[in-house]
Amino acid sequence: MTDVIVIGGGASGIMASIAAARAGAKVILLERLSRIGKKILVTGNGRCNLSNIHIDSLYYHTSSGCDFSYPFKYMDYKRTEKFFEELGVLPLIEGDKVYPFSEQASSVLEVLRMESERLKIEVHTDTKVMGVFRKRHKWHVVCENQITYEAPKVIVATGGMANASFGCDQTGYTILKGLGHTISPTFPTLVHILSTSPYCKMMKGTKVKAAASAFVEGHLVRKEYGEVLFTEDGLSGPPIFQLSRVASKAKYENKKAYVALDLLPHMSYDEVVSMIYSRIASFPMRTVEELFTGWLHKRVTMPLIKYARIQSMHLKGEDLEYEPIARLASSIKEFIFETEGTRGYKYAQATAGGISLEDIDFKTMASKKAEGLYITGEVLDVDGDCGGYNLQWAWSTGYLAGTHAAEMHLSNRNEE
Ligand SMILES: Cc1cc2nc3c(=O)[nH]c(=O)nc-3n(C[C@H](O)[C@H](O)[C@H](O)COP(=O)(O)OP(=O)(O)OC[C@H]3O[C@@H](n4cnc5c(N)ncnc54)[C@H](O)[C@@H]3O)c2cc1C
Repeated sequence: MTDVIVIGGGASGIMASIAAARAGAKVILLERLSRIGKKILVTGNGRCNLSNIHIDSLYYHTSSGCDFSYPFKYMDYKRTEKFFEELGVLPLIEGDKVYPFSEQASSVLEVLRMESERLKIEVHTDTKVMGVFRKRHKWHVVCENQITYEAPKVIVATGGMANASFGCDQTGYTILKGLGHTISPTFPTLVHILSTSPYCKMMKGTKVKAAASAFVEGHLVRKEYGEVLFTEDGLSGPPIFQLSRVASKAKYENKKAYVALDLLPHMSYDEVVSMIYSRIASFPMRTVEELFTGWLHKRVTMPLIKYARIQSMHLKGEDLEYEPIARLASSIKEFIFETEGTRGYKYAQATAGGISLEDIDFKTMASKKAEGLYITGEVLDVDGDCGGYNLQWAWSTGYLAGTHAAEMHLSNRNEE
């Protein structure tokens, strides 16, 4: 007799299965793809940034006002590190990001698979769940292949909508909505930002270190620093990924948004103006474009001069009046790129929004809407920043749900 059915064999579902099986439950894991954990293989560019040494709710986002920090208290970074170390994966810490020492995402999946086998978790791949219903104290899980599985407890870990090639689609949301859960609006996050600015194309392929600030309706929402990559259709790179949630949400809400790049964040506006004057004094015969040689990236200089509305590239520096110099300095400090949302779920690393946190008891991950049902991972209305936060959410919520689903069921069984 099955005690717990887990729907979705991603990071969170595998973790939930292991936790439930360790607590003594007989577990069935259902996965619609041909293998479990396919997405884990591509995380961290194949290196799997599996956690972060600074796990805190501050690095997570939700549309709810609920306190969702308990899963991190239950399974914090240290417990996660211990969990993986016991399975053979040693940590490699880079800054605050944690990777497997092998730097291979496949090793993370392999140890999870070995542990699943050791615990005799019954894994059914190519098994897409289409619906669930409760009858006589049992959950009936109906699959596309016409097979129905039964168990007193079910854990839904179907993930979000990011990167459909790794199995995600809308079924998880549809099933949970049908059971009375509320879904907060979803939108892609941790993804390239699209911009209508003609300057992106001109600088395509160029990387610059900059401070990037996201504004919505003229208000600063978030600021990041790091390497920005210009692409044919917009902006990319680590700081842009962090800002993408803002651009994505603004697009969803039909609000005007832009990203402002400060190309010299370590200098004030006045210092930039002084620097331009001092370079003109040193190199009076250089053209405006040449003035920046050795100071700014060459591929950025020409678009910047155009953006600052300087009539000619060939104008001599010594012929520049104060106004154009001020415009150049302002452009360096605030090069604006209007945003048009993002490249979408196909390219995104995570989904913002999802199952409303008001529907969850965070001490156990049990649904408040459906008895004996637990919800974990990215399908919930929580998304983390880049840096191992999303996998940690998947591990923590999965482990918590698996343990509770098994313990609640087994203690009920023993009492009967
Ligand atoms: C390219 C990329 C790189 C990333 N890199 C990182 C990183 O380095 N660090 C980090 O922290 N996060 C990273 N993330 C995010 C992280 O991978 C996810 O947040 C995390 O995997 C979510 O885990 P999950 O188990 O909730 O969902 P998923 O991993 O999406 O798993 C859900 C599973 O459920 C299955 N499923 C869905 N519907 C059904 C159904 N109806 N029936 C049966 N099975 C179903 C799916 O096939 C899938 O296997 C990355 C994401 C992507 C796309």
